[in-house]
Amino acid sequence: MTLPLTWDLDSIFPGGSESPELAAFVAQLTADLTTAKAQPALPPLSAETQPQWTETINNLYDLSARLFHAGSFAGCLVSQNVKDDKARMLDGELDALHAQLETLWTNFAAAASQQPDAEWLALLETDALKPVAFDLNEHRTLAKDKLPPEVEALVSELSADGYHAWDQLYNVIAGTKQVQFEEDGETKPMSLGQLQSKYMDAETRETRRRAFELYEETWRELAPVISMALNYQAGFRLTTYRHRGWESVLKEPLFNNRLSRQTLDTMWGVIAQKSDRLLDYFAAKAKVLGVEKLAWYDINAPVGNLNSNFTFAEAADFIVKNLGDINPDIADFCRMAINNRWVESEDRPGKRAGAFCTRLPLKAETRVFMTFNGSYNGLSTLAHELGHGYHGYVLRDMPFGAQRYTMSVAETASTFNELVVTDAYLRQSTDDGERLGLLARKLDDTATFMMNIRARFDFERAFFERRATAQLSVDDLSALMMDAQKTAYHDGLSSYHPLFWASKLHFYITRAPFYNFPYTFGFLFSHGIYALAQEAGAAFKDRYIALLRDTGSMDTETLAKTHLGVDLTQPAFWETAVDEALADVDAFVELANRM
Ligand SMILES: [Zn+2]
Repeated sequence: MTLPLTWDLDSIFPGGSESPELAAFVAQLTADLTTAKAQPALPPLSAETQPQWTETINNLYDLSARLFHAGSFAGCLVSQNVKDDKARMLDGELDALHAQLETLWTNFAAAASQQPDAEWLALLETDALKPVAFDLNEHRTLAKDKLPPEVEALVSELSADGYHAWDQLYNVIAGTKQVQFEEDGETKPMSLGQLQSKYMDAETRETRRRAFELYEETWRELAPVISMALNYQAGFRLTTYRHRGWESVLKEPLFNNRLSRQTLDTMWGVIAQKSDRLLDYFAAKAKVLGVEKLAWYDINAPVGNLNSNFTFAEAADFIVKNLGDINPDIADFCRMAINNRWVESEDRPGKRAGAFCTRLPLKAETRVFMTFNGSYNGLSTLAHELGHGYHGYVLRDMPFGAQRYTMSVAETASTFNELVVTDAYLRQSTDDGERLGLLARKLDDTATFMMNIRARFDFERAFFERRATAQLSVDDLSALMMDAQKTAYHDGLSSYHPLFWASKLHFYITRAPFYNFPYTFGFLFSHGIYALAQEAGAAFKDRYIALLRDTGSMDTETLAKTHLGVDLTQPAFWETAVDEALADVDAFVELANRM
């Protein structure tokens, strides 16, 4: 049976970016936002004014869901055809609406923060608002922790030029720089992103080494300006925090991820203790590559072979079959999503790169976008994105205010699917070269989450600590990064990447401070769940669904306690998760020695 390779968007809004229904939908939304903005301020909260508050809140959620829906749809249109100018314009238009909606939420949160606790709690106890109490409380708590609304409004306005602008400056510098790289006797212009792929993925070591040297040299040249972007952006953030009375730079990212400091410290503590087991992997990989010790540019070098070729139907069958063995509910979802054309997988020009999954809340549906090229990577990407799809599907009948989950748990279902499918494939494959390649791929990921990202986190924390009293020079920053990398990699490499603070875009994302630890958290959280699922067998299915359903209405510790019965602030869960991720080391070493 041939499966559909393109997705169905017409059942959402017929006619793509030319759709009259879509235009009418956006026009109505714009009008309703204008009406909401014109509403007078909410009266003090009391038994008599409760209905008015409820109505305002329901209206905010309604506007949010509709804007999310339109935004998702526009994202799908732009991705399936990067030349769809009308879709791009729509995307920009929706961004502006988003800013308006944000202001409405900020004003609401400020008003909520000024109401007495007793009145507020009484409001949240009502049937209408109980299911979204967690989300509403978050809005109010954050507003309470911030400066008075008129001061925050000023901070927010100044941020455009004084804070987020550094992020944009960085993107322009990093994005426009071109270098000349010689390969096979030919000199080619390359972006820094292309050069990075060369040093990470090139087959021959000499190419990787030359690419990496040029990469470091180029960042060294850019470093003086980039260090200003980092220093000033951090200065803005620290000053804002100081005025709000926030003592730790981790307060904001922890709040954003619904995590406690203790959980984070415990997780890193277990990683620090156990991750040196990856040195055995590094040693075995070095042997396979024929080098004494891995250099920075060898870490992700390809080994083994992953030359398998699947049709989309074969990949889909494999995924459905193997997920079905562990949880039939996920398998049913995947089959349904593929048959109902919720997946866009066609390999054709004009599509954007990468893969994603998005939710369409008003239809209670999801859509997956990717380009399937027949490789194992494609199969695992399909499993991954269908995991996101399943997560969205499980949440489909919850109120919109209980559907928003944070980055820390966003990769739970996707990584879980990937793990199930990859392990199934490893068990079935009889080709040693392929198994070696797959194990290396898994372990490279593990090293990224436990070592590379650990170095990013340690660097960023140390940087902010020193930045509180003085600016840091290029040399200071590089020295700090070297220290962080040596610690995280247990001194296990022959060379490092001291200018990583300049080359890594993530340090400059002002809208998501500390854009690092949620990755590692999510990776290990999913590994821990995978370990529990294997242990519990069929009985785990319902707990898994219940956990995913509550990702939008609990902090992460409560989520884990309620549905997994584990305490994230203590080491035990993390030890299980880390051991699960490191279990491949022995298999790789054994296989590498045998080959
Ligand atoms: Zn993902």
